[in-house]
Amino acid sequence: MSGRWIFCDFDGTIVEEEIFVALLRRFAPVESARTLPEIYALRVSLRDGLRRILETIPSAAWPEMEDFVVRSAHIRAGFAEFAEASRAAGWSLLVVTGGFQAMAELVLAPFRSAISAVHGLEVDRSGPFLHPYSPWESADELVSKPAVYAHYAPEQAICIGDSVTDLALARQCPRVFARDRLAEYLQREQRPWQAFETFFDILPALEAVHAAR
Ligand SMILES: [Mg+2]
Repeated sequence: MSGRWIFCDFDGTIVEEEIFVALLRRFAPVESARTLPEIYALRVSLRDGLRRILETIPSAAWPEMEDFVVRSAHIRAGFAEFAEASRAAGWSLLVVTGGFQAMAELVLAPFRSAISAVHGLEVDRSGPFLHPYSPWESADELVSKPAVYAHYAPEQAICIGDSVTDLALARQCPRVFARDRLAEYLQREQRPWQAFETFFDILPALEAVHAAR
């Protein structure tokens, strides 16, 4: 596909909260308490662990989950401006989330015209319990961010994230904006990265690349 693409995480990045994890703890408390520590300790893969947790949540809970997400989400400062500026500078903005695509779409609706695509976990609600699936599934993850990156095959790329689920992507991305745990991992691996607290911090990167062309 090529071109200039921005790969931006959702939980803890566009929104300040870890909404997906909060959703799991709220709607699947027993299985989350059992399986999340196993995932964090790397004894269970994200793919198998998340599937195990999500498949305990009744499909009927979905509307209540949507309410929970909408109530909990706070957009990080500068995102609206960043989305508009990236489009004006010739970048295509992708949101890539390990959480529910539909939930990200709900929160991002006011900004949607400035976003090229939202990729994440899809969910089948036709049975009694949620059934998660994704076209981006790998051996370890339900949503493999490197798989999305490979699909777009960017000529230029900026990656923005905050946690371990962004690490594999950040390792291959030429320009990375990181905060929180992702910044620590990259620091430890001595890879180049830039810090951000708000999306205003990332605006100069768009202008620099734009001016260079
Ligand atoms: Mg995140």
